[in-house]
Amino acid sequence: MSEYPSPRMLKSFITQIRGERGNLVVLTGAGISAESGIPTFRGREGYWVVGSREYQPQEMATHAMFRKNPEAVWAWYLYRRDVCSRAEPNPGHDAVVALEDLYGERFRLVTQNVDGLHLRAGNTRKRTYQIHGNINFARCDDIGCNQRVRLLPEGLGMGRLKGSMLTVDEYACLQCPECGGWTRPHILWFDECYDDHNFYYDSSITAAASASVLLVVGTSGATSLPMYVGGLAAEKGALIIDVNPKPNPFSRLAESTGGLFIRGKGSTVLPSIVDQISHV
Ligand code: NAD
Repeated sequence: MSEYPSPRMLKSFITQIRGERGNLVVLTGAGISAESGIPTFRGREGYWVVGSREYQPQEMATHAMFRKNPEAVWAWYLYRRDVCSRAEPNPGHDAVVALEDLYGERFRLVTQNVDGLHLRAGNTRKRTYQIHGNINFARCDDIGCNQRVRLLPEGLGMGRLKGSMLTVDEYACLQCPECGGWTRPHILWFDECYDDHNFYYDSSITAAASASVLLVVGTSGATSLPMYVGGLAAEKGALIIDVNPKPNPFSRLAESTGGLFIRGKGSTVLPSIVDQISHV
């Protein structure tokens, strides 16, 4: 374990993908956006009060909760969207853009983040798989409705206070223009299943299976597809590198398969990796 990439690690990294046909897959979680000021799900900031009860994100981010209380779930998402839209990409995001620039078609980004910061930093839509959705989009909650995924209006919900309920205008904006029912955030909730059409399930697996290097940043490995991506990439012989201030299932996977756990923050470790790769 080290704070910065060792020469040995970089040599493996470069041997695996540079000047050859090897593919680089970067897998990111909430930790890469933590330094942009977007809380992860693991702290006090994650809680949300509805009535007199505190709910955890794992309870709020469910279709069951949305069916029971769509106003409360939307109020939570609009608040979080406001936090995300005020945040700026940090040097960790910029480094991931630099990696896409370096490896082009051999690069894929699989992100659990719904904040859209990777796209705002400059990663391309084509090579970015937002496997848990994007907080800036909504779709009709009725799967029989023809309405497509749509971008939420820019100012919707901006400047709202934590815990405040929906305004009449926000309520109206969140009804489906096609059928008049509720739209819902374009997010994969904890009680829902992955698919490829909306959430890049098969695309992520294909990328993992052909990865020469899997670079994991800022995820605790609490959800199933990222863990599968890690396990599959390792099984197919990819070099696993995990960047995280804390040990986690990916750091254990990296260390048990001859890869590397770099103990540190995305915003410092990733630029250092890019810098060294670019100068080799
Ligand atoms: P998580 O909250 O479970 O874990 C965050 C991980 O990031 C931890 O392992 C932590 O040690 C690490 N970390 C903290 N600061 C870091 C830093 N500066 N650099 C690198 N790593 C750092 O997050 P998760 O594994 O992504 O899973 C939570 C779920 O919550 C995901 O489904 C995700 O969609 C959602 N979520 C997304 C956002 C976002 O879009 N920014 C924010 C919160 C939660």
